[in-house]
Formats: sequence, C-alpha cells, structure tokens
Amino acid sequence: MTIYFGSAGAPDSFYGAGFKSSLDMPAWLAGQGLNAYEYQCSRGVRIKEEMAGELGKRARQHGIKLSIHAPYYINLSTEDPEKRLKTKGYILDSLRAASWMGATTVVFHPGGGPGDNRLETFRRAKVCLAEVLEEIKAEGLDDILLAAETMGKINQIGSLEEILELCQLGEQVVPCVDFGHLHAVSQGGLQGIEDFALILNKITDAIGVQALKTLHMHFSPVEFTRAGEKKHWTLKESHLYGPEFAPLAQLIAERGMEPTVICESQGPRLRMHWHLRAL
Ligand SMILES: [Zn+2]
Repeated sequence: MTIYFGSAGAPDSFYGAGFKSSLDMPAWLAGQGLNAYEYQCSRGVRIKEEMAGELGKRARQHGIKLSIHAPYYINLSTEDPEKRLKTKGYILDSLRAASWMGATTVVFHPGGGPGDNRLETFRRAKVCLAEVLEEIKAEGLDDILLAAETMGKINQIGSLEEILELCQLGEQVVPCVDFGHLHAVSQGGLQGIEDFALILNKITDAIGVQALKTLHMHFSPVEFTRAGEKKHWTLKESHLYGPEFAPLAQLIAERGMEPTVICESQGPRLRMHWHLRAL
C-alpha cells in the first residue's frame, strides 16, 4: 500500500535551509520521508520545458510523485469570450508542463462566483470544460488527470456535488478533495469519522471505488467565517483549527486507499505523515 504524501510548493523550511531552486525539492522531500510534490503554477505557467524535464528526472530518481496546481485565474463559467479563451489556455499550458515533467495530475479551481443563478453559471462551466476536454484530447494530453478542486467559499462554484458532476464529463476529470475547504463551507462540519465517511461515500457513488482509491486530496487546517474559508494556517496556530486528520487516516486504512495527500503547511504535514506511518 503506497500513500503519497507531500507538499504544495516549497515550504519556508526549504528556503530556510538555504535552498533556492525547486529542482532541489525532490531530494529535500525524500530526505523528509515524503514522496509527493505539487508544483505551483498558481500564478501562471512559467516553467520551461528544459527545467520541467529536469524536475521530472529528479522526481523519478527520488521516488517523488508530481502534480501541478494550475493558475488561479481559471474561470470556466465566465461569459467573457477573451477570458474563456485564456481559461482554456491556462489548462492546456498546465497539462503541457505536466507532460514535460511526467506529472500525473493537474489540479485546478473551476473558478467563478455563482452569480444570480448558480445552476446557469455551473452549466456554463460544464460546457466550457467539455470543450477544453476535446482540445486536450486533440493534443494527446488526455492521459494526465484533471483534478477539479472543492472550493472553500460558499459563493464559489466548486461544492463537492458540483465537482462530482464535472467528473461525469469524462474519465480524465477527477475530484481534488480539499478537506480544509469542505470543513470551512460546512462551518466546521468535519468532526467525527462519519463526516469523512459520508464524503468518501459520495465520491464512490459518483466515480466508483477504483477512482476513490487513488483520490487526490489537499489537507490543511483552515480558519473560516460564515462565508467559508478565511485563512489556511501553518505550523504555530494549526492546533486551533480543524479538521483533524486522524479520522481520515483511519478511513484510508480501512478502505485500502492509496491517495495522494498534499498539505500546505509543514507542521501538520509531518504530524500527518507520522500518523499514516503508524497505520
Ligand atoms: Zn487549490
């Protein structure tokens, strides 16, 4: 049973240790006993083919599974033709970078507020994603998973139900379940093991038990208000905020899952890693 466990981008402790280039991340992560790295293109896909290839090579050397976080500017539901074109470009660029580095998964935010008519906004998002999937196929990039992330604000497209509906557009689309976000939109709803089980059951119903097994997840403590997510916390204050990882770890073991768990903050990441190793 392999659980992939790693970092979103390079943490402060990496730079604090004197490293500057993300090319050093695979060796650094392996040194920490971690085996996944989500390369951040959240502010744009700027990585060049040569560097991406080198990162991929080093990741393979050190047994690190790679994913990419696509730009935050993606907005599948936009009505602006220019922004729509750009949205497709961000997704395609991320997939190209993923293929250069041998990343298995591109995570993206569907983007966009719900407007006056959430159903209609969501319908536009589905149409746009279906079109992008055609372009992706034409370019031969359909072997890389596109993971639509559950969002942390209520006034954002990206509820668990919406994400699972996007997954119906094709096998390439899978969910990226951000448990901190789900905790925030449910006002602290992730408490006991049954709360986590309910989420895993919904996912299984929508995409099947095999896709659940290799689920891509984000897990960080999160502070929230009535609107949802306010802030992802790191090391020091993380004990003040949920969700707790222990119930999910138990379910991962019980269901024989081999997920990829990406954590944004160092302290919780290491604690979670120890927890999983104890299973
Ligand atoms: Zn994200």
